[in-house]
Amino acid sequence: MNDRIHNFSAGPSALPTAVMQEMQEDLLSYRGSGMSVMEMSHRGDLFMGIIDEARTRIKRLYGLSDAYEVLFVHGGASLQFAMVPMNFIGEGQTAEYIETGTWSTKAIAEARIQNKGVRVAASSGDQDFTCIPEVKGLSAEAPFVHITTNNTVRGTQWHDLPDTGGVPLIADMSSDILSRPLDTRPFGMIYGGAQKNMGPSGTAVVILRKDMVEKIPHNLPTMLSYRTYVEKESMFNTPATFPIYAISLVTKWLEETVGGLAAMEAVNTRKAEALYALMDEDDFYCGTAAKESRSLMNATFRLRNRELEPLFIEKSLECGLAGLKGHKSVGGIRASIYNAVSEASVEALCTFMDDFRRTNR
Ligand code: PMP
Repeated sequence: MNDRIHNFSAGPSALPTAVMQEMQEDLLSYRGSGMSVMEMSHRGDLFMGIIDEARTRIKRLYGLSDAYEVLFVHGGASLQFAMVPMNFIGEGQTAEYIETGTWSTKAIAEARIQNKGVRVAASSGDQDFTCIPEVKGLSAEAPFVHITTNNTVRGTQWHDLPDTGGVPLIADMSSDILSRPLDTRPFGMIYGGAQKNMGPSGTAVVILRKDMVEKIPHNLPTMLSYRTYVEKESMFNTPATFPIYAISLVTKWLEETVGGLAAMEAVNTRKAEALYALMDEDDFYCGTAAKESRSLMNATFRLRNRELEPLFIEKSLECGLAGLKGHKSVGGIRASIYNAVSEASVEALCTFMDDFRRTNR
């Protein structure tokens, strides 16, 4: 489809065109039912099949054992910032958080609002969040260690997980969930808003290890307790039906078209390498993240001559490349190259960047 733009938006972000077409075909009458997924009961067989497929495919993609539950929770990733401490930091306990920029800072703030025990065990704040910090001396007594695996604003990503010595890791994976294979065993919980690698906004996916459920206090408001989502299979109230349906299609695309997470990682690596290689050819473009911490999902950079950045954005749009403006808190340029951004889109971006450099040197 040539009226689809090259979409580098940080979120909500590009979805696979094939998935959009399948949704279009299903829109008025899902599988001959005469109604849209948006119009059907969440308790009917059709939707139960859809949510089950989304769950099962996520489990299969990550190779999750039966020790894990896959939940669909409202409120995006930001509500999980509040629910994680509410559910898992008990009286007298102190959780360990690693601070790597905007979203991790917000997660820490939500724990502090509740007067929970929180320690920032490592931070790259003194390096302007341009890298993933070294982590040492984590407490063995902590209920969990919280990390943000991909830092959407600064363009950094964890490439090796910290050794927590058996303390469960809880990870905000909003911007790199399902982008690469993962040894899930150290994780007590993984969560992410749907709107980058999985579907439209409206739900968060929460992968929760069953032993974590036992630690949840019994006096939490119903909708703020992960136990509710486990016991009611994410159906205590009406779940975000259409986003969950989209997730079922995106995960089908990941399994059947892409060929799983190792294949996805190979594509994502090729895309990121092409972009970083071009940036590193000289100092016209300057990557903002330390090389060893560079993200495969969000490539952030400045132009050596910053005054040219508005022109870069203007010209990129004229060439059919959208969403390249950096986050407002840091400025510059950000190319979000999530799963659904094709290698052809990245090639188009590289060609544009090369031409722009030649014209504006
Ligand atoms: N965490 C990360 C890493 C993010 O990139 C974002 C959104 N950009 C969020 C959390 C917040 O997500 P939501 O809007 O779903 O609350």
